Amino acid sequence: MTDIYQNIVDRDQKYVFQNYTRQPIAISRGAGAVVWDTGGREYIDCVAGIAVNNLGHCHPAVVEAVSRQAAELIHVSNLYYTSQQAELAEQLVPRTGMDRIFFCNSGTEAVEGALKLARRATGRTDFVAAEHSFHGRTMGALSVTHKSQYREPFQPLLQKVEFVVYNNVESLKGSVNRDTAAVIIEPIQGEGGVRVPSDEYLRSARDLCDDAGALLIFDEVQTGFGRTGKWFAREHSGVEPDIMTLAKALAGGLPMGAMLAKEDTAARMQKGDHAATFGGGPLVCAAALASLKVIEDENLVERSALMGDYLMQGLKNLELDRVTEIRGKGLMVGVELNVKCGPLVDYAREHGVLLNCTSDSVLRFVPPLTITKEQIDRVIEVVAQGIKEVE
Ligand SMILES: *Cc1c(COP(=O)(O)O)cnc(C)c1O
Repeated sequence: MTDIYQNIVDRDQKYVFQNYTRQPIAISRGAGAVVWDTGGREYIDCVAGIAVNNLGHCHPAVVEAVSRQAAELIHVSNLYYTSQQAELAEQLVPRTGMDRIFFCNSGTEAVEGALKLARRATGRTDFVAAEHSFHGRTMGALSVTHKSQYREPFQPLLQKVEFVVYNNVESLKGSVNRDTAAVIIEPIQGEGGVRVPSDEYLRSARDLCDDAGALLIFDEVQTGFGRTGKWFAREHSGVEPDIMTLAKALAGGLPMGAMLAKEDTAARMQKGDHAATFGGGPLVCAAALASLKVIEDENLVERSALMGDYLMQGLKNLELDRVTEIRGKGLMVGVELNVKCGPLVDYAREHGVLLNCTSDSVLRFVPPLTITKEQIDRVIEVVAQGIKEVE
């Protein structure tokens, strides 16, 4: 069995760019909140493709929709209309509070679209982003991503991006002005370590943008589609952005992104300003439509809130010395440790639980929203044991 794994690793190491720090397993199958590796070992998946597999792995409704659509029409250019794209736009846009949608293929592309739209709509150049932000790896999105390790090798990036302290109104006040095209923030920071701002902070961001004539962009790439116990995280505060970005869970595991905007902003986008060859193709639209229906039919948004509380309470009850803070909303939970969490991730994997460590010391739990109480109990048990055993 290990030779199947080793063979995969050998070929990866010979032919694939070595830009990922991979965990030492190869995953070959998934169902619900569980995946199996090539050796047949089973894992409860609290990574979920990094908040992508909200419905669990290979949800039958998505499998069915994709299979059916693939046999009918996989791709056509945006030079033509398709019913799948129109249908998805009609179903998704009203849920977001926005008026129009542009389809692309990933989170970073959604952010690129948002930055271009902000410049186009305001005629201004500057952006304000937050410390610990993550918005993607392409040049524009990277310019508003804070982590110096990601940025520095690729400078110069977009000019005039200012980083403010997240969840700090004063810091924002000092940076938003008449040259600001947009302020971009995650309504809950994901990669930055599951940081939850106050509603008041997000409201102030809205007010400061309005006063300065700047646009407010909410990057909901990670927080969308029930992840935080609401359809979209912005609903917790009730603050409405001008532009919103989505991706990750949008198409039930298939690659898809979207940029949405209110009408007055969207109207500034001119024909020819922006495009994506694959954006909103019939196959991914069919997957996204099936995914929206599952979230609705299985009450996954409510389930995320309930299971998230259950997980967070269970982790809190452990009262572990190494844990400095537990935070999150719904099934987006971060456990901050006073040590690096890499060894704990290894321990958990060796005991059948996949976890991710972000920001060096924050264990991130973003399991499928379909995860059961029994699975959560097991996850908590492994984490408790792991923290005790890994020094
Ligand atoms: C993951 C993520 C992105 C980038 O998405 P990709 O699909 O990897 O390009 C952007 N913003 C946020 C908030 C994310 O979590």
